Parts: sequence; C-alpha cells; structure tokens
Amino acid sequence: MTSEFDAISRLFKKRTPYIHPLTQVGNGDDASVHQVPKDKELVISTDAAVSGVHWPEDMPLDIAGHRAVCAALSDLAAMGAKATWVWIAVMAKDSPSLVKMSTGIVQACHNHQIELAGGDTVSSATNAITVTVAGLVPKSTAMTRGNACPDDEIWLLGNLGLSAMGLEQWFAGKHEGDFVSSFQRITPQLEAGEQLRELGVRCCMDVSDGLLQDANHIAKASNVSLNFVIEKLQSAPSFKKLAHINKDKALKLTLSGGEDYALLFTAPASLHQSLKKLGALNIGDCSEGNSARLFLQGSEIEYNVKGYDHFD
Ligand code: ADP
Ligand code: MG
Repeated sequence: MTSEFDAISRLFKKRTPYIHPLTQVGNGDDASVHQVPKDKELVISTDAAVSGVHWPEDMPLDIAGHRAVCAALSDLAAMGAKATWVWIAVMAKDSPSLVKMSTGIVQACHNHQIELAGGDTVSSATNAITVTVAGLVPKSTAMTRGNACPDDEIWLLGNLGLSAMGLEQWFAGKHEGDFVSSFQRITPQLEAGEQLRELGVRCCMDVSDGLLQDANHIAKASNVSLNFVIEKLQSAPSFKKLAHINKDKALKLTLSGGEDYALLFTAPASLHQSLKKLGALNIGDCSEGNSARLFLQGSEIEYNVKGYDHFD
C-alpha cells in the first residue's frame, strides 16, 4: 500500500470535498480554522469507538466507521445543534482495515452533509475510531441535561431496545434482519433535535446507555425526578416490535438497552400538542426529587436493570 500521506489524501480528503462556508482553513493544515457567527455558539463533543468494545470484532469495518460517526453526531442532535464539522482519528490494525473504516466514515459525512475538517491516521494493535463533532446553536438555546423542571412532561423520540436486541442476535449468529440493522445503522436525529430546540425544548439527551441509567443523569443534573409510566412505554412501536419477538425481554430491553440513540427530553405541558405532532411519545412526568422512577398501574415499582458501564 501507499504511504500514510497518500492514504490520508486518497481515503479521506479527496473523498470529502465539501467545505462549510464558515471554514477559513480546512483539512490539510496543522489544524482547521472556523468562524462562529456572532449570534451563535459552538457545540463540541468527542466519542471513541473501539473494536470488541463498541462493535463486535467480526462486524464489517465500513459499518463500524459509519456507525462511529453517526453515534458522535447524535450528541449534537441531543443538544439541538446544527452539525457542521467532524474531525476523525482512525487507529487501524492494517491497510485493509483502514480502507474499510474510511469508506463508512466518508459515507456518513456525505449522508449528513458535514465537513471532514481534519483528523489523524495511525497504526494500532486494535481498530478504533475517535470522532470529534462540532455544530452551531443560536446563543443560549442549547438543550442540556440540567434544564428539566418539576412540572415538565417526559418525552421520547425514537426507539428503545432494538439495537440491544440486534447485538444479542449478532452474537447468537444471526447477522441480518431489522434488529441487527438497528444496531448497525444509527440515524442521528439531527433535524428532530433542531426542531425540538426551535419549539422551545431546553432539556434533552440521547439515550446511549439505557433509558433509566441515562434518565438518572437528567435527574441529577436538573434536581428533578423523572417518573416513567410503564403502560406508556409499552405503547412505543419499538416495545411492540420487541414484545412480538420476546415478550419477557421487551420491558428489560426498553428500560436498559442502549445505543438506539433516541432523544429523551422534558418539556412544559404547553408544548404537548406540538410534540405529539412531531411524533414524540409522552412517557411520564417530572416531579420534585432527583432520581428516575418507574410506575405501573399508578404504583411505583422497584427496578434492578442496569445500563452499560465500561468499568463495571
Ligand atoms: P500533523 O502531523 O500535523 O498532526 P498529519 O500528518 O497527522 O498532521 O495529517 C495531515 C493532515 O491530514 C492534517 O490536516 C490532518 O487533519 C489530516 N488528516 C489526517 N488523518 C485524517 C483522517 N483520518 N481524516 C481526515 N483528515 C485527516
Ligand atoms: Mg502538525
């Protein structure tokens, strides 16, 4: 194979010609330089994806590349930002791995019209991809985890548990089907995130580690309780799909399955009708307190479902 610099040019730069109008110095220098309009703020996030940790070692690497970029973009959706730039460090075991990962990465940049503004390409004992994303929001409007109010309703936009079921199926040797593609093909809800922000939603996150575990982050950051109603969660199309395959597991996967990248958010009741029109599902209410709680037929139930923890 050719040298590192030829590879960077051929695999990444030449295949991502799009340059955002706010870019002053694009890919190819020591760093990229970007303008930020006066009325906007910059939103930045970084995400690592490692073979054998974030994707099964036997999964095609172009899918892994695409997935890594989309998972990172989901954080911008959660903040309500318009995605503009990505910087990607690719750690590759060998040349064929690099080529495969680059194909998925480039595809994701095209699909979401994002500029690949820089990155790094290195050899490594393990295939891995680190994606930094940046976007813009109008000043002081970014949706955060700390903005929930005790009177808010809780909403969900997207699926829960499908990706976890897909991963389980992959490990059981089933390498195709709807669930497997839910795991492999993440859709960052970038447009929906912006729509929520424009409607006036100010508290949102994307569910990557499981609903209850992630909801606890909002509860702690906002100092409110999030009270989920199981009957409402059971009306989600993703719950029905799971129940169709495995009735016993549907609730557990809904509560703890990560990586569907649904948007979980809270909003005042005045937004109820507009949010329903957007296709969001009301799944509970907030109250005074600081934890995620679960209710069935009006009574609180104890739960013992854990989301994902890298060091547990
Ligand atoms: P430096 O040594 O200054 O860190 P590199 O030699 O690593 O720069 O990279 C040269 C140029 O190619 C830089 O502009 C860098 O941003 C870009 N680049 C390297 N790898 C990637 C990649 N995987 N994706 C996009 N751009 C990359
Ligand atoms: Mg340099």
